[in-house]
Amino acid sequence: MRKRREIKRKRIIAYYILAIVLPCLILGILAFRGIINDQALVEREHRNNLAEDSQNIIQGTEAYLTSVERDFVKIIESILPPQKTIFAHSLLSQFILQHQVVAGIFYVSKNSRPKMLNSGMMYVPDNSLTRFDLAGFKNKHSILDKARQYEFKEKNYQMALKYYQTVLPDAHKEQSRGEILNAIARVQKKLDLNDKAIETYDLIYDKYSLVFIQNRIPLGTVALLEKSSLYIKKSDSISALENIQLLLNQIQKSRWEIGFPYFTFILSKADKIILGCENSNNKETKKLLLKIHSIQDSISMSQIHTEYLLSFLGSNEIKLIEQELIPANSIQRQKTRINDKLYFWSLQSVNNTGKWGILIDTDYLLMNTIRPLLLEKENESNFKWQITDDNGGLILKSEYITEDNLPVYAAFPSNLPALTLKLYPENSGLLNSLFYSRGGLYFYIFIVIIIILAFGLFFTLRTINNEIHFSKMKSNFMSTVSHEFKSPLTSIRQMAEMLDRDRVPTTEKKKKYYNMILLQSERLSHLIENILDFSKMEDDKKVFRFEKDNIVSTAKDAVASFKSNMVNQSVQINLSDADSIPEIVFDKESIEQVMHNLLDNASKYSGDSKTINVEIVTKGKDVIINVTDFGVGINNNDKDKIFDRFYRAGDELTQSVKGSGIGLTIVKQIMIAHKGDIVVDSNPGKGSTFSIILPVTSKEIINEKNID
Ligand code: ADP
Repeated sequence: MRKRREIKRKRIIAYYILAIVLPCLILGILAFRGIINDQALVEREHRNNLAEDSQNIIQGTEAYLTSVERDFVKIIESILPPQKTIFAHSLLSQFILQHQVVAGIFYVSKNSRPKMLNSGMMYVPDNSLTRFDLAGFKNKHSILDKARQYEFKEKNYQMALKYYQTVLPDAHKEQSRGEILNAIARVQKKLDLNDKAIETYDLIYDKYSLVFIQNRIPLGTVALLEKSSLYIKKSDSISALENIQLLLNQIQKSRWEIGFPYFTFILSKADKIILGCENSNNKETKKLLLKIHSIQDSISMSQIHTEYLLSFLGSNEIKLIEQELIPANSIQRQKTRINDKLYFWSLQSVNNTGKWGILIDTDYLLMNTIRPLLLEKENESNFKWQITDDNGGLILKSEYITEDNLPVYAAFPSNLPALTLKLYPENSGLLNSLFYSRGGLYFYIFIVIIIILAFGLFFTLRTINNEIHFSKMKSNFMSTVSHEFKSPLTSIRQMAEMLDRDRVPTTEKKKKYYNMILLQSERLSHLIENILDFSKMEDDKKVFRFEKDNIVSTAKDAVASFKSNMVNQSVQINLSDADSIPEIVFDKESIEQVMHNLLDNASKYSGDSKTINVEIVTKGKDVIINVTDFGVGINNNDKDKIFDRFYRAGDELTQSVKGSGIGLTIVKQIMIAHKGDIVVDSNPGKGSTFSIILPVTSKEIINEKNID
């Protein structure tokens, strides 16, 4: 038996595996493959997006440069023709201030050398210094000659000063006045008239700063240098340094057009004065020195920029530009490498007057246009990036870059700086695909699979449990039923044998034996009836004969018959009924069987108490028959189960009583067939009341309902 149960359990598990686990597994594999495919799709889509992003970045750069070029064209159109040069100077300065991406503006024409304009160059090549005329009357003016003679040949500085001062009122041109004042200051210095000399240099600086003397030296620089050395003489290092600060500041801001030799001359002169003051303990001096050092740093930076622009200006490229044919009013971008430095410029030819160019600061373009565009997209599209130059050298990259994935490459087109973008897609991850691809469809599929598996497992275990329980009950039933049969049959056989062999002496005893045989066979036939009815009901073959009848007399008959067949005559059955119980429709034989089973249970489980009460009452349209005993009772857990097939309550006391576990099942089935019910009210240890409820219904209705 156990082996068969084991086989059954295995079969159910096999069904579970075949019907639930296997399809779920297949579904799971399909969903997983879907995820993998989706992931590949997502990655491809991501790469396409990155390609699109990089094109957007390139287009953004292009658009920015175009807008700068457009602004530039507007400016150069407004400064033509050339007579407006002063106006042009301020316009171009403004343009450079507004567009920091412009490293320099240059002009190339057939008639003049290529020129850098307003480009923050601190010095220019000597050959491109602006030509100028020295004061026209140097040879013509005899007094001036005499002054020079006194100064340089005879070293009579008093006379020289006198003559220079005499000639000054005659000089009207700015150039001549500047030159003569310079001579006066120079002689005053030689005469040790330091304060006077300083005064004169002050005047020169204020009014003649932009006057150039021999070797294209601006008077402004002379005035400041001389003043600072005069102050040193006077041991006024603060004033000396103030003048040096002013000088360096103006040099850094390209106030004067000077050549490289003079630029280095000024720096070395300034250095000497600075060094002379370096050891001072004066607070003010130290403060000034700090400021001067920071200007010196800026000068070093500007010198790099100046060299950068000068290499371009001196290169062959710019000479080629002159010969290049550019369609009128059009813009052309070009690039090259000079001394391993990248140059990228935009060239416009306006009205055939020459070619104007803007040299683009590619570092600025990178940091202030391309990088912000990349950072913006980086946040949106989840990627890391690198920018390399045309040699593959790394220029810029994002933080935390891992080069696990193959990047998406995008080279800037030829009309932009020679750069390449590398966008590295970030892994989207399996979990991401699970949750986000196709609106989380796969996630839901997995959830459904888990639910199916869980439910499948739950029902399989329940079925196995029920099966085991049921087969256990069935085997118990077999053994109890055979036992039930065995004991009456044995006593019948023994008594019949004794009667047959004439071993019963008195007639009285014989009668008792006959009576006992009758009782036992009565019990047997009840038992058989129960089993037969049970099997009919199981197969849905039980036929009921519903008739309108008197339920009270039927119940009374059943009680009387039960009483007369009782082996244990000490049990007392009390019957009470209400006055007006109506006739109702029922199957007489079945209700008698119900009564018999209930009374049999009441007497079997009544323990020491030997009283059973039977009560027939009406409640609404129902007739209710209560069978009450005062025996062992039923505990709450068993109350619902006692109507199940083969169920016998687990209480030791009830288990010791013989029974098959089908009596109440039959009662329940019969009551259902009558459209009625059976309910139990019990107190463990105090007894139970079983109530059958019979509705007052017509025969037709019951039959009709039966057919349903
Ligand atoms: P059995 O042949 O075991 O009596 P039944 O189907 O008639 O089978 O009853 C099922 C179980 O219900 C019994 O085994 C018993 O545990 C419980 N039972 C039925 N009637 C009573 C009662 N009057 N008092 C206590 N327990 C009862």
